[in-house]
Amino acid sequence: MTELATKRRRVCSQGALRTSPPTPCGGQSKHRNCFVPFAVAFLFFFAAPSIYGASVTPAVDWKDLSDRKLTDTGKAALAVYKDAWQHAETEYFVYHFHDAKEAETILIHTEVYYHWVKEIFGVAEDPKLFKGKSHIFIFDDKTLWKSFNQTTPEKLPGAEAFTNGLELFIYREPFWLEPQRVLAHEITHLVLHRFVKGEVPLFLNEGFAEFMATKAVAMKADGNEFNVRTFQLVPENEFIPLEELILLKRYPDTEEKNTIFYRESELLTRFLVLNYQKEKLYELLKETAAGATFEKALKGIYGVDLKTLVEKFKTYAMTRG
Ligand SMILES: [Zn+2]
Repeated sequence: MTELATKRRRVCSQGALRTSPPTPCGGQSKHRNCFVPFAVAFLFFFAAPSIYGASVTPAVDWKDLSDRKLTDTGKAALAVYKDAWQHAETEYFVYHFHDAKEAETILIHTEVYYHWVKEIFGVAEDPKLFKGKSHIFIFDDKTLWKSFNQTTPEKLPGAEAFTNGLELFIYREPFWLEPQRVLAHEITHLVLHRFVKGEVPLFLNEGFAEFMATKAVAMKADGNEFNVRTFQLVPENEFIPLEELILLKRYPDTEEKNTIFYRESELLTRFLVLNYQKEKLYELLKETAAGATFEKALKGIYGVDLKTLVEKFKTYAMTRG
């Protein structure tokens, strides 16, 4: 894992998802009828100007945004660029950015990832578990980003992004060519907060975010994960027994174990999504976030006992067999 990747992930480990109202969630939908026209309109709005070489203009003045409620961290972010922030909003997100051109990639991908989550979950409508929209702050000045990052309650200097569930703060490198992985991961956390009430167990929260990130990278390579090695198996001597993984409340304290934790959590999500009706994952996230043990929810939703899953998953994680 690269140093940057490690830092990114640590964001999640200490990020706001667990310190702000603990409400991770995710949605999905078969409502392509709703999604497609909206996506086309959105892509045209934001992408068309760049295609024609013109700059993208801010969509909405601050005073005209439908949702201006921010946490203290959001208010601190807003103070960084002050009047230089530009704003845009879609059905579920409010975007704050300094440079519209730099923000364009994030704007487009966020809407796509949101609908991916809804589709996996089989959810037609956003459950609107909280009033308002999810806010995304896109920084493009490294010095300002670092300065801001050191003053937030999350205190994650060095991180590229972090979320408190209601808001996502992300630094967009000017020459950022591969935004898919980290963006999809963080957006998934943000979306989960819209769809699941309560605190999703750590391994499911990070596992699903990594699963979506892997999907995003794979889609870039024509959807063929084997072409791009988007995920890796787990060596037997490093395998974290499933009985331990599902009980983890904190991130492993070494980089090596942390890497395996993320990898194995992603593989577990992958195993469940690909081997069972994918919509069951949403039920699993909701029930465990509501307090059910993984073992009980697994039995009730998937009809599988933990012992059986332990055996099947270990083989899968080490051989993908
Ligand atoms: Zn994460």
